[in-house]
Amino acid sequence: MDIATQIEEADIGLCADGFDNFVMYGDLDELRQHSANLKTVGAIKCSQVMDQLLAWLDSAQDRDPLHVLKADPARANALWTQYNEASCEESPLDLAKRKTPPKKRQLPITDREHYDFFGEEDSSRPCQSSGCERGSVKFSVHCRTHHFEKVMRKPCQWND
Ligand SMILES: [Zn+2]
Repeated sequence: MDIATQIEEADIGLCADGFDNFVMYGDLDELRQHSANLKTVGAIKCSQVMDQLLAWLDSAQDRDPLHVLKADPARANALWTQYNEASCEESPLDLAKRKTPPKKRQLPITDREHYDFFGEEDSSRPCQSSGCERGSVKFSVHCRTHHFEKVMRKPCQWND
């Protein structure tokens, strides 16, 4: 997967749902990778927020990063707000696209392409929308349909 795709998936997931999905399985590899990718494309403010988050989680006595975040929601939320602001300001995806040849990958244009872009659902992680029995897509606690509605802020007409 090229860096623009990695950044796009992670950035959309972070901005929509916060940090929880990234640390759900107890390791920080995805956050570290995202921080490294942000540095590579020059999204310095975004990567600084990631580094603050990583420093916090690395130094916490509790080795379960999800616990650490849940134990201090105000701090987690403040970092997430900072990340969102940095992401709006720097637009890491645009920076990444400039670093990768434009023909390598077409970015989603239609709603359907956007929907497909969210990828496969993982049935071992049920969608958190009440009454929904589907799995979740990567970097989200929601199935493709509910993730679409959250990210795009409008109803989704597909449920395949
Ligand atoms: Zn769902």
